[in-house]
Amino acid sequence: MKKCAHCGAENAEDAVKCQACGTAAFFDPIAPPITTSATERRDRDHLNLLSIFHFLGAAMCICGIGAVILHHRLMKMVFTKAMTGKHPFPVPPEDLMRLMNWGYRVAGVFLIIGFILNLLSGFCLWQRKHRIFSLVVAGINCVQVPIGTLLGVFTIIVLSRTSVREVYNKSYSPRPDNHV
Ligand SMILES: [Zn+2]
Repeated sequence: MKKCAHCGAENAEDAVKCQACGTAAFFDPIAPPITTSATERRDRDHLNLLSIFHFLGAAMCICGIGAVILHHRLMKMVFTKAMTGKHPFPVPPEDLMRLMNWGYRVAGVFLIIGFILNLLSGFCLWQRKHRIFSLVVAGINCVQVPIGTLLGVFTIIVLSRTSVREVYNKSYSPRPDNHV
């Protein structure tokens, strides 16, 4: 017997259309019901959340770059005043400025790298691809206490789950769509 997917009426096995309502849609008795387990839902939610956090992390790096530029401008103003002003300065302002410029460069490079890595990892997490890459980025994020550490540890915990590994394996080899 076949059950009509529209009205639920029982029809003969060879029926093409439902005797009761005329719909051609029948429940497939072989295909298992489409259900998502609690584990699958949790993994999906966590991976999506992590992806969003990585995009936010990338956005924070951009803000950081802005802050570095702003700080540089301000300090340049201060030092220019110190160079021309009569106020006694403990260190030659030119030397201090040179030293700080190196600090800005290092901070800038770190922020740009952080931006690129978090953006890429966000995309990878969203598409469930390149798990190892996201793990490496998570390790690098751990250096940035405290937010980066939280994000990094959470990412490593989620990505280390056996069920999440399976999700990644599935996305590598596309599942056949036909239920056989
Ligand atoms: Zn029917």
